[in-house]
Amino acid sequence: MANSSDFQAVKDRVFADLGLYEQVSGLYDGQWVAGEGRRRIAVHSPINGEWLADVAAAADEDYDRMVERAWASFEEWSRVPAPKRGEVVRAIGDRLREYVESLGLLVTLEVGKTPVEGRGEVQEMIDIADFAVGLSRQLYGTTIASERPSHRLYEQWHPHGVVGVITAFNFPCAVWSWNAFIAGVIGNVVVWKPSPNSALTAIATINIVNDVLDEHGLPPLFFLAVDEAGEIGRRMSSDRSLPLLSFTGSVRTGREVAAKVGERLGRSILELGGNNAAIVTPDADMEIALRGVAFGALATAAQRCTTTRRLILHESLIDSFLPRLADAYRSVRVGSPLEPGVLVGPLINRSAVDSYSSAIGRAESTGGKVLVGNAVLELPGLENGNYVAPTLIEGLAPDSEIVCEETFAPILYVLRYSDLKEAFAIHNCVPQGLSSAIFSNNLREVEGFLSVVGSDCGQASVNTGTAGAEIGGAFGGEKETGGGRESGSDAWKAYARRQTVTVNYGAELPLAQGVTFDVG
Ligand code: NAD
Repeated sequence: MANSSDFQAVKDRVFADLGLYEQVSGLYDGQWVAGEGRRRIAVHSPINGEWLADVAAAADEDYDRMVERAWASFEEWSRVPAPKRGEVVRAIGDRLREYVESLGLLVTLEVGKTPVEGRGEVQEMIDIADFAVGLSRQLYGTTIASERPSHRLYEQWHPHGVVGVITAFNFPCAVWSWNAFIAGVIGNVVVWKPSPNSALTAIATINIVNDVLDEHGLPPLFFLAVDEAGEIGRRMSSDRSLPLLSFTGSVRTGREVAAKVGERLGRSILELGGNNAAIVTPDADMEIALRGVAFGALATAAQRCTTTRRLILHESLIDSFLPRLADAYRSVRVGSPLEPGVLVGPLINRSAVDSYSSAIGRAESTGGKVLVGNAVLELPGLENGNYVAPTLIEGLAPDSEIVCEETFAPILYVLRYSDLKEAFAIHNCVPQGLSSAIFSNNLREVEGFLSVVGSDCGQASVNTGTAGAEIGGAFGGEKETGGGRESGSDAWKAYARRQTVTVNYGAELPLAQGVTFDVG
C-alpha cells in the first residue's frame, strides 16, 4: 500500500465516503462558510508528503460572529431536558458507527496513525457518546440537611454556556468528543479550534455530527474554526464570552493559554504534555512487562501524551530485559501505516523529525549512549514522509534537562535503579505528571507505587502500560500536565456550574448561625 496510486485510491474512497473535497472550509458558524478571501492551509499527509486538501482558515473577524451564534443556540439547547439531549448524542454516536472505517482511515491519512489506531480513535468517540447518554440521566445534585427549620438546601448543576475546546493534532477527534459530548448533554454549546495538522478530520467530524442535528431540527451546537498558527486559539483564551476553555496541547502553549484565561478569571481544563515512566521490577512478569513497555513507548510513533518516555529498570534486569527490548526496537516495522504489519508510522511533520534529531544530539552530548536507533529514515516510495528509527538511550542522569522534557518522538530513556525508593524518586523528578506504570507481582511494590509516596501522576497503572486509557475513568495529569480532568467518572462537573440553593418554605425567617436581625 506504499505506492502513490494505492494511496490515492484510499484517499478517493475516504473523501467520497465522508463528503470531503480538496478545497474545504474550515469555518462552521452555523453553516459552512465559503473560503473566499481567507487564508488557505495546505494539508499534506505525513505518510508520503502528498497533498490532501486545502483548508480555508477562519479569519479573525469570523470569530465574533461564530461565538454570537453559539450563544443564540445555547438559549434553545439549554432548555431541552437533559435526557432528550442525551438522545441526540445517542444518535450522533450511532451515526459515527457508520463512519468508523472511513473516519478512522482519514485519521491515518492525515496524522499517520495505523488504521487500527485510527479506528480506535473513532471508537473512542462512540464510547464517550454512550457514556454521555447515560450521564444525561445522572446529572445528580446533592441534598444537604439544612440547619434551619422548614428550609431545603441542595445543589444543582447548570451548563456554563458556550465552551471553547482547543485540541492537539495527535487525538484529532477523540479528545474533542470527550469534551463536546459531555459538555453537550449538560446543555453547553461548543466552539472547537482543532490543530491545523488535523483540520480535515475535524471538518469531517463536524460534517457527520451536523447532519444528525439537522435531522433533529436542532440549532447548530458544535461550531468549528480552523486557524493556521493559533490566532483563533489566542482569541479564545482571552474571550470573556467563553466561561470555560478546555485546552489540550503542549506545556509551552498551555502555559500561555492558562495565563490568558487566568487573567480574565475564566475557567480552564488543561490537558498538557506528559513525560511518562514505567518501572520494571525483578518481580515483574517479564513477558507482560516487555509488551507493555514496547506498546507504551512505540504505539502511535510515540505521539501520545501517555507514551512511555522513561523506563526505570532494576539494575538486575539490565542484562536480561534490556537486550530483549532492544531487539523489539530493532525489529519493529516502521513505515507507511497503510502497509500491513507496520506498527510505527510517521511523525506528524518535519519539525517533529528535527526535534527527534536535536533531542538525541543533546542526549549524546550530555553522556547518553544510543543503544538502538538514531536515524532519520528515507523509505523507498515514501521519501517525503517523516520517518525515524525508534531509539533507546541509556546512561543519562534521571534529572538531566533532556530527560525532563517531553520530546514528541520515539525516544525512550533507560534509567537504572537499585531500590524502590530510588525508583519512585526518579519517577517523580520530572515536571510533568500524566501517566505512570509499574510492572510487578509484588504486593508491597505495587501498593507502594499506588501510595501517596509512590506515583505523583493523574494515571497510575499496574502491569499494563502508560498508554491506552479507557474513557470510563477521569483522564488528566498533575504538575505541568495542568491538573485538568476529562472524559469519565465525575469529570463532567467541570463542564457545569454548581449552584447551592436555599429554599425557605416556612412562615418564619430564621437566619443561619443563629444570627438575629430584627428590624421594626
Ligand atoms: P500544541 O501545543 O502545539 O498545539 C495544541 C493546540 O494549540 C493546537 O490546536 C494549536 O493550533 C493551538 N495553539 C497554538 N498556539 C496557540 C496559542 N498561542 N493559543 C491558543 N492555542 C494555540 O500541541 P500539539 O503539537 O498539537 O500536540 C502535542 C502536545 O499535546 C503534546 O505535548 C502532548 O503531550 C499534548 N497532549 C496532551 C494530552 C493530554 O490529555 N494531556 C492529549 C493529547 C496531546
